[in-house]
Parts: sequence; C-alpha cells; structure tokens
Amino acid sequence: MTRRSLPFAGGAAVWLCSGLLVAYPTALNDTEQLPMQTFTNPYVLPEDTGARVSASYFLRRAWVQITRDVSRTEVPPTVPLDIEAMAERPFAVAWLGHAAMLMRVNGLWVLLDPVLTSTAGPVAGFGPARLTSLPVALEGLPHIDVVLTSHDHYDHLDLPSVRHLARQEGGPPRFFVGQGLQSWFEDQVQVQAQPFGWWQTATVGTVTFRFVPAQHSSGRGPRNRNSTLWGGWVVENEVAGSLQRFYFAGDTSYVQAMFQDIRQRIGPIDLAALPIGAYQPRALMRFEHMDPDDAVRAHEDLGAARSFGVHWGTFQLGDEEPFAPARDLATVTKRRGGDQFGLVPIGAVLDVAPGSGASSILLAPSALMAASASDAQRPR
Ligand SMILES: [Zn+2]
Ligand SMILES: [Zn+2]
Repeated sequence: MTRRSLPFAGGAAVWLCSGLLVAYPTALNDTEQLPMQTFTNPYVLPEDTGARVSASYFLRRAWVQITRDVSRTEVPPTVPLDIEAMAERPFAVAWLGHAAMLMRVNGLWVLLDPVLTSTAGPVAGFGPARLTSLPVALEGLPHIDVVLTSHDHYDHLDLPSVRHLARQEGGPPRFFVGQGLQSWFEDQVQVQAQPFGWWQTATVGTVTFRFVPAQHSSGRGPRNRNSTLWGGWVVENEVAGSLQRFYFAGDTSYVQAMFQDIRQRIGPIDLAALPIGAYQPRALMRFEHMDPDDAVRAHEDLGAARSFGVHWGTFQLGDEEPFAPARDLATVTKRRGGDQFGLVPIGAVLDVAPGSGASSILLAPSALMAASASDAQRPR
C-alpha cells in the first residue's frame, strides 16, 4: 500500500461515498422528475428522512482523501483467511473489511456485499481508498454459490468484483438483489440476478435466504435515487437438528420498530453483523447510518445472541477517524454492560452459533484495540 492514498481520489470521493452520494439529489434538485419507480422507508415519516448535505462536509472528505498518511492511520487488524479451515465449518462467516463478508453454510460459499477492490467508486482508482489489506484476493476465493447484495451504493456493490465473480470458473453464482437492481446486473455484467422484496425468501439446498427491511436509501448517481430496493439479509440453516440464523443489516439507521419487527417475524438470531461506522457528522449521517450506540440498541431490540460490528475501519466515509467506531463501541459496551457485542479481526472465521473453537474470535472492543496497537508496531 502506498504511503498516501490515491492523489486523485479526493475530488471523486465526494460524489462516491455511499451515504453521501445518495443525499445529493434531495439537496440540489427537488423538482427533478424521477424517471422510474422509487422506494420509500415505511418505518419513518418521509419528512424525517434523507440526508442534508453541506458543501463543507464534501470538502473535508476530499481533503482527507488527498492528504491521508495511510501508514499512520489506525485500522482494524487483518489475519489471513484460512479457506480450508473455513470449508469444514457448518455455518460460519469471515469479515473481509467494510461490509463484505464470506460465509460458509451447509456446503455453500456465499459472499455478502463483495467490494474487493482498492477503491469504492464507479471508476477504478477513484473514490474512497481501501485502508486495510484484504484477507483473501478475489482470485483466491473458492467457487462462490450465492452473492447477497444489500443495496447499490458503491461501498456495497462493486462492478469489477461482480464481473470477476460472474466469470468465475464453473459458472456465475446466483446473485440475490433488491427489487429493481436486476437490470443493473443485466446491463453491466450480462448476468441474471434474482430480485427480492422485503420479507421474500429463497431456498438453496437446505439454506433459506430472506431479504429484510433497512432504513436507508439507494442510488449510484443523481438520477436514480431510491430506484432500487435496499435491505438486509437473514440466512437460516439447520445445524445438528437446530435452526441457526445469521442477520446482516446492510446499511441502516436506527429505527427501533424495524428491529423489533425483524425479531418478531424472523425469530431468534444467533449472530448479527451490524454497521457501526460512517456516523459523523451526526446531523447528516443519522438518516442513513447507525453509530455504535445505535448498533448496541439494535442488537438489544433484535434479541441477538451475539453481534459484531462491520462497516468501519476500511473505507473512510464519515468524518470520524477509521478506528473511532471501535473506541466508541468500547465506551458504549462498558457503559451498557454485556459482552455479546464485539469485534473481529478482518479475515477471522466466526461460527454463527457458539459451541466451537472458532467462536472465541469474537473480541471485546478493547481487546481488538490492543490487537490493532500491537499490529501497528510491526513493519508494513
Ligand atoms: Zn448505503
Ligand atoms: Zn455503506
């Protein structure tokens, strides 16, 4: 990795950061006719949603992209992903950085929001730069059976990654997406994708995939805001006679009624991956993203047995420093008590349900901070 991030990333970054990009149309052109069907958030009144963008925010983000010294930026630790060991697990996930995850479930390999390139933007080399190492290269992945996409923002849906997967040896995976996004896959990747409305399910083998609501938005440019549906995913699998559930929230702000609804409709959740980053400035980001305090509340509303934080430390999209979510989460969990909400190193394999050795990799935020500090002392 270079000492500084890409010099031209800053100017483009202001248009590309997911939660920020989406706010642009509402701020600039209220009278523009949207050319297609749009989706809305049902849990919050429309007048209480939608980010309001300030020019100063864009300038700050651009400046950070241009001037950042990557070697001095604290980020989460990365360990090599042991694909062979993961293949033996009945139901396990590995965080790949930001919102990307690899899942092993009943013999299937599943990717969630695979952004596995060096920048999160529409053009290679432009946009927010990756600050962490990938625990596995795209070329090192096993044959992927299913790809779950939460929504179309650039930090969750990456064209080069998807094209690579569509051309993998042995045929493309099944792409599961929100309603309306299938046409992007047909146009850009020349591959079929299966659209889902909220609460819709599909079964592959014995594994059930369900698309669930999120409080967010979508759009890859100013003319297609909210024209495709956003959401989270619940993956359900039977292990040794008992049903286990993994919940991935995608991008969402905190709405208690929504998490309670998911809990009521889905049932007990064994492991949840909840976003904790890109939350500053709060006046802007609270409409799109949770902060660590929100995420712990969501964990409690869901009644999840265990949760871990994602969407942090990899691409800096908010004003907070990349490692700030870990520190804030440590403060929140200390104040609220309980050790069921933790963090994992990038690349570590985490079982969905406890009872096996891999589960111990869920760390208290303070333990991950200590691991990161010792990691930083090694030469990169
Ligand atoms: Zn987003
Ligand atoms: Zn995001």
